[in-house]
Amino acid sequence: MIALKFEFRRPKDVEEAVRLYGEFQGEAAYLSGGTDLVPRMKLGLEKPKVVIDLKRISPLSTVEDQGEWIRIGALARIFDLKENETIKDYFPALKASLEATSCESLQMRGTIGGNLLQNSRCLFYNQSEFWRRSKGFCLKMGGKSCNAIPGANTCFANYCSDNAPALCTLSAEIEFSGPDGTRRLNLEELYTGRAEKPFKLYPGELLTAIFVPKKKSVGGYEKLRIRGAIDYPLLGVGFSYGNGTGKLTIGAVGPKPHSVEMKQFSQGAIQEAAETLLKQVRPVDNTVVNPEYRKRMVPVLAERLVNKVMEGVK
Ligand SMILES: Cc1cc2nc3c(=O)[nH]c(=O)nc-3n(C[C@H](O)[C@H](O)[C@H](O)COP(=O)(O)OP(=O)(O)OC[C@H]3O[C@@H](n4cnc5c(N)ncnc54)[C@H](O)[C@@H]3O)c2cc1C
Ligand code: SF4
Repeated sequence: MIALKFEFRRPKDVEEAVRLYGEFQGEAAYLSGGTDLVPRMKLGLEKPKVVIDLKRISPLSTVEDQGEWIRIGALARIFDLKENETIKDYFPALKASLEATSCESLQMRGTIGGNLLQNSRCLFYNQSEFWRRSKGFCLKMGGKSCNAIPGANTCFANYCSDNAPALCTLSAEIEFSGPDGTRRLNLEELYTGRAEKPFKLYPGELLTAIFVPKKKSVGGYEKLRIRGAIDYPLLGVGFSYGNGTGKLTIGAVGPKPHSVEMKQFSQGAIQEAAETLLKQVRPVDNTVVNPEYRKRMVPVLAERLVNKVMEGVK
């Protein structure tokens, strides 16, 4: 049950939403599907004074063909996107990651924007306030050190968006509206690399859309998880290929996705790409599986995925 009291507002356009956020001086939260925010509020990880529901702002939910780009509104639902013909046809890596996201009932509620802006997760953090207090607050809760690696002064929480790695392989861009206007950036520029505060966001910025270059690609997404549905990724591997170049991205190990470009697709080249990615991540014992196992699965899933995708190109 949500114990805290908060105001609930439903603005009719982006300007009103941003203005409302400003009125509450950083104690506001935007709500799309609520499948990440509401559980966080229930656990006391988020205590906004006002929840600003974006669902009435209909231009945020549409998917548009703009010629060189496909514009995906931030409030487009995961379920609708995975059924979208353009996405199936042009961006198979994204189609696969949308399909792999939690389960269909959550896909019907959860949006792509909320998926990208979900906070990072850790077994020692996504717990009730009572549980966390008894353990002692860690870095991500304003404490002095990490509970997963006692004494460490770095947070290793995992950013578990299934769709971020797939969108990185497609060189997606994202657009925000905020108190100082609109800005557009490469998705990969969104991340701070610090799990305590994973996004480079200014207060009040609202994600309006995701832009994907409209280029035909082949690709896919492989996910490590215990159960075939609902589970967050313990590792996610995306790959897209088009015009002689491939991009391999891994996610769910640490605070951001990591990518590598590929021009060769021999076993040696795939192993080299996986090795490059492995050097950038440091999985620790803060999920339901052993960190060494997650690490070893990077080359396994990468090899499986790249071979499968490139087999179709021959
Ligand atoms: C049981 C369970 C299993 C899950 N499994 C997975 C999984 O396998 N893979 C996966 O990727 N995710 C998973 N999720 C997380 C979540 O369901 C999805 O990421 C979903 O797509 C989030 O979208 P939402 O619209 O519900 O986000 P919300 O909860 O509405 O928002 C998420 C965050 O983004 C902010 N926000 C939302 N929209 C905007 C916006 N337009 N601009 C600025 N800020 C915004 C909110 O304030 C909040 O902090 C799971 C969740 C649950 C409860
Ligand atoms: S990795 Fe450490 S600091 Fe980060 S949330 Fe988990 S316990 Fe806290």
